[in-house]
Amino acid sequence: MEAERERHEENCVLSPGTKSELCKDSDCWSEEEGAVVLKRKMSLHSCETCGSEEARYRCPRCMKYSCSLPCVKKHKAAIQCSGVRDKAAFVSLSKFDEMTLLSDYRFLEDVARTYDCAARDVLLHKPTSYKFLGFMKNRARKCKIDLKILPVGFKKRRENSTFFCQKQKRFCWHLKLIFPQSHAEYMAKRVPDDRTLHEILKKYISLKESDPVIRQRLKAYILSQSGVSVFMKAESEKHSSARWYELDSEKSLFENLKNKTIVEYPTLHVVLKDFRNDFLGVGQETSDTRSPALPALSQNEEEEIEEGEIRDST
Ligand SMILES: [Zn+2]
Ligand SMILES: [Zn+2]
Repeated sequence: MEAERERHEENCVLSPGTKSELCKDSDCWSEEEGAVVLKRKMSLHSCETCGSEEARYRCPRCMKYSCSLPCVKKHKAAIQCSGVRDKAAFVSLSKFDEMTLLSDYRFLEDVARTYDCAARDVLLHKPTSYKFLGFMKNRARKCKIDLKILPVGFKKRRENSTFFCQKQKRFCWHLKLIFPQSHAEYMAKRVPDDRTLHEILKKYISLKESDPVIRQRLKAYILSQSGVSVFMKAESEKHSSARWYELDSEKSLFENLKNKTIVEYPTLHVVLKDFRNDFLGVGQETSDTRSPALPALSQNEEEEIEEGEIRDST
């Protein structure tokens, strides 16, 4: 309430002691009091728009004097003035007082509020229509993929840039690539599904063809002689611990995704072969001596964890 009233005053009461005729609100200056001071203060200036009348208002943005509503409107149109005080205008340190501080504080509050409102607006976050999503799911079904679409608001839904290319009759996937041994994650966009995993990974872990910045980050992979295995989490499996599909690097994405459930987009875990035992395959049971809920760690595995290895606990 308070802030609203202040903003209102800001826009209609122009300098102390002026009365705004634009504003019929009782919140604004009282008639008599204002008029007297007004005469004294403003008579020095004439309207900068028509030049003939005595100025009664001063624009909080451009500081131009005006005599009446038509003149205020005219000046706004002529110099593209919004008539709203410029909250980000330069203020020299010597003129920086408590009011300026308060104004800055309110400005930041406004920004936070605007951002929050935008984040809550469901319509703004609906980049893809339901029709399009239905079409995608249908297409996926034809490729024997169970594509699950999350409700609006989920991060994965927002990120997903997957689309079906009508011309080439194939999916161009949004991919998340996780390299646990380097603690790195990358997003790949528009990856055609006829590419083999080997081709897709070239950009990341090929000694010659990878991007230099990525190569530096994924040093562990570049230097390793063992090669990599690619895993994808089995979404449909109901186990206390995750089960994984091992994908075939020589086969295309299309072949690899067949008969699998994908939530929004595929997330591929690219793992050095030395660590591949951490990924339990689908149908593979935890060994008899371990209970699935609390797997006992062998000496060997404990060492691996100490080396900072990421484990998916879900
Ligand atoms: Zn005028
Ligand atoms: Zn103005």
